[in-house]
Amino acid sequence: MATTLTSQLADLSPAASAFLDRAPLGNFIAGEFKTGSDTFTTIDPSTGAPIAEIAIASQQDIDDAVAAARAAFEGPWRRFTGIKRGTLINKLADLIEENAEELAQLESIDNGKPVKIAQIVDVAGSVKHLRYFAGWASKLEGRAIPVEAKDMFVYTERVPVGVCAQIVPWNFPLMMAVWKLAPALTTGCTVVLKAAEQTPITALRLAELVKEAGFPDGVVNVVNGDGAVGAALVEHPGVNKIAFTGSTSVGREIGSKAGRDLKRVTLELGGKSPNIIFEDADLKAAIGGSFQSIYFNTGQACNAGSRLFVQKSLYEEVVGQLAELANNSVVGAGLTKGTTFGPVVSEQQFKRVNEYIQIGLDEGAEAIAGGVAEREDGGYFIRPTLFTGVESDMRIAREEIFGPVLAATPFDDLEEIAEKANDNEYGLAAGLWTRDIGRAHKLAGMLDSGMVYINMWGLTDPAAPFGGVKASGIGREHGAENLDAYLETKTVWTSLS
Ligand code: NAD
Repeated sequence: MATTLTSQLADLSPAASAFLDRAPLGNFIAGEFKTGSDTFTTIDPSTGAPIAEIAIASQQDIDDAVAAARAAFEGPWRRFTGIKRGTLINKLADLIEENAEELAQLESIDNGKPVKIAQIVDVAGSVKHLRYFAGWASKLEGRAIPVEAKDMFVYTERVPVGVCAQIVPWNFPLMMAVWKLAPALTTGCTVVLKAAEQTPITALRLAELVKEAGFPDGVVNVVNGDGAVGAALVEHPGVNKIAFTGSTSVGREIGSKAGRDLKRVTLELGGKSPNIIFEDADLKAAIGGSFQSIYFNTGQACNAGSRLFVQKSLYEEVVGQLAELANNSVVGAGLTKGTTFGPVVSEQQFKRVNEYIQIGLDEGAEAIAGGVAEREDGGYFIRPTLFTGVESDMRIAREEIFGPVLAATPFDDLEEIAEKANDNEYGLAAGLWTRDIGRAHKLAGMLDSGMVYINMWGLTDPAAPFGGVKASGIGREHGAENLDAYLETKTVWTSLS
């Protein structure tokens, strides 16, 4: 069970401590950190102890950040060739790699995740992402278009959309920031980024590295604060494009504002992803993969496999083994060696997830692992929770919980399971486990989902499009598709006569 600590600050490396000693950490505007009179405290969710004071962006700061991004877009950044942009992006990747241990520790203490996961997933994933997108910077080509009219030369150019407002959540703070920055920078856009108020630290360390890499001032700006700061950024008339990852309710609000103002928008929202195990599956792989699919990152992943469907003959065995794995999880503080399962991110999430667990019990489902958690001094620990006896109309089967809670249900056949899997407002990811390749691809085609995982779950790659259908969002991150979100097509007609 969780070790009870009062603070993890003493466990940080000298480099990570030195960064926190620079607090209050300011807003990063036009290449400088600017502190203001209003601050908020960011908390370590493993202990509840304060970590650092962060300056909240005022309306003036937001105006200044957007103006700095505009000046950089119209000025120095526009003159950078693709190869020069790519070189800087690669330099940023190098700096993240050089400071990997520090960044992983800062991520762990601010978000709660095990430091090892922060290093191999969040930090290493950020490096890979930047390197992939750096290569695109010099390959953004238009086309020559044959047209009906005589003596015409028509071509297209791909031009950057302009100033981008990028708003990210708290579950993978550094990596989400990089997933946003990389395509924007490679296409020649400039950015005002807002990190989540629960986890502001690594985005500010990233801003320092952006400066050290040599990006012109104003190409990347970072503002701090809660949803009000995000909303002010979304509504700012100087912003051309909004990229958002977070809840579906805020995504709907941003989407409607973007529609009103005709700003470009991409939305990466929630999920309630079905994970389906057939009786011919490789059981060991299916159980291990299904466990990770929901409990990785303490269930705080948009593509978590939170609805488990198991073919009837295997159902008892699968849920039994999953419960055993859940009970063996090493729940503890992010910086404690051996922790496999950290706390949820905040008091608000602790309350919200516990409320859902209570709702599940009240609805008549049975928690065969985990359950409603008591707050241990300080930390926001909730054990991996597994519900059986789940009916499809229960709220725990329908709504995104965004915590370590799995709802398991048995099923009979393929047609039935496709219908059940699709019977949800979300459509981010879906997974299936079977040795029958025909069945696998037939079902993959039937699932309303942006991503389908066959005999695996949840790998991401900068080259492979990531995103959802239905209430899970609009647009795709990663890969060539991601570039479209940051580029306009300009068509140029020339008379040759
Ligand atoms: P949220 O959507 O409220 O916050 C995400 C980001 O949006 C944060 O940076 C926040 O400050 C900002 N924001 C909030 N309100 C805004 C507004 N009106 N305009 C502009 N920006 C705004 O998410 P949350 O409250 O942190 O978490 C609530 C739920 O969101 C979770 O329980 C989960 O269901 C979902 N979530 C999804 C993801 C994902 O990756 N898809 C990530 C985090 C949270």
